[in-house]
Amino acid sequence: MSSQSKSIKSYLNCSFECSCGKVHKSLFAHYIFESGAIRKLPGLLKQLGYNRPFLISDTHTHEIAGCRTEEALRTAGICFTSHVLKSPENSDVAADENALGSIAMANDMDADIIISIGTGTINDLGRYFSYITGRPFLLVATAPSMDGLVSGVAPLIFHNMKITFPAQEPLALICDSEIMAAAPLKMLAAGAADILGKYNCLLDWKLSCIVNNEYYCDTIADIMRTAVDQTMESTKGLASHDDKAVSVLTEALVLSGIAMDFSGNSRPASGAEHHQSHYWEMQFLFDQIPAVLHGTKVGIGTVLMLELYNTLAKMEKPDFDAIRENISNRMTVEAWEQEMRRCYRDGADGIIDLERKSKKNDPEGLLKRLSVIEAKWDEIQELAKTAPKAAEIYQVLEEMKAARIPADVGIPRQYVLDSIRYGKELRDRYTILQLMWDIDKLDEEADFLVEKYCQESVCG
Ligand SMILES: [Zn+2]
Ligand SMILES: [Zn+2]
Repeated sequence: MSSQSKSIKSYLNCSFECSCGKVHKSLFAHYIFESGAIRKLPGLLKQLGYNRPFLISDTHTHEIAGCRTEEALRTAGICFTSHVLKSPENSDVAADENALGSIAMANDMDADIIISIGTGTINDLGRYFSYITGRPFLLVATAPSMDGLVSGVAPLIFHNMKITFPAQEPLALICDSEIMAAAPLKMLAAGAADILGKYNCLLDWKLSCIVNNEYYCDTIADIMRTAVDQTMESTKGLASHDDKAVSVLTEALVLSGIAMDFSGNSRPASGAEHHQSHYWEMQFLFDQIPAVLHGTKVGIGTVLMLELYNTLAKMEKPDFDAIRENISNRMTVEAWEQEMRRCYRDGADGIIDLERKSKKNDPEGLLKRLSVIEAKWDEIQELAKTAPKAAEIYQVLEEMKAARIPADVGIPRQYVLDSIRYGKELRDRYTILQLMWDIDKLDEEADFLVEKYCQESVCG
């Protein structure tokens, strides 16, 4: 029996005119979440007109789902090539130039479709390889651990830097419910935490609409909010690997990909909580420390960023005249560049270039935003009041035995201080971090958060 709900079906392969004025489109058409789903792969391939897949997996995912995929293809008489990347002992394959080179060297030139068997790394690699070789892509997922299941970009590591490349969106996603539900709790919790992060990113998106008049769509935000609420209700079920809870989570992860198709950017799925995660990930790459699951870091970032919204909700209206008068006393461009070199090391040039283009810290833009923030202070504060309490998310993470504070995954205090103060420099995207900077509260808030969340023992 398929546990696929009605809601997701209506968003597959769809196009509709929205009240926001845009036509929203999603080309993603085939989503199968059920017991024994892999057995449906040969039939689906035939239906789509493909007959020679090139399979990509790693040692772990091959064992979990790769063997079954090969068997299903063999039984159906479909000719295929399978490349299994060797997972390093006690860790995972990295989505980097080595792995990509290995795939390229094993490539079957005659294959007409690329199939990745996995979720994180293998999905990213396959999606990118499919894009650069101009072939369609299909994903057999092994765990609902991150929100990039359906995505048109692939974050890959190149020269120790994480860079987002364009990639082929999957035309189909196959999830065997038993395999998905049997994934380690750590992975289920990471997927859920990635979704809980949407509470924050939706606030950031709306905030930018209020301050910068950025395009915002209520329909997309509502789709995501419903998916997040449902995931929030399912977190207890995830702790017991319940099928239904895993189905709800997987749908939410798929929906966040579809929501990005609808909006044409990653606004519905990524805000300041993701910038925290990206910042820490970069530091781990620089320090050559093994990576932590993406969603795990997003969960920690979400608690921190929601704290900022909770603070904003209670804050007295700032003295805007004093803020304006004090602008000349803020950090100089030279001092800021020095900080970027310290924090972003080899990646600093890109960050400095981005600021030259986006000018998000320029006094002129700042003054303009301050007038808007001053005029719309009540509206901004009303928005902040709708944010869930950071303590509530903290508790949900705890119930899933997930990491809740930076120290849980070895993120040092200094990295947290820097990610709060400078994480906003990673992208030209207005979030709660930029707002706090605009009203000259960011440094103070960074100290407060580090004091609260980077102690030896913490209570929510
Ligand atoms: Zn819309
Ligand atoms: Zn994410």
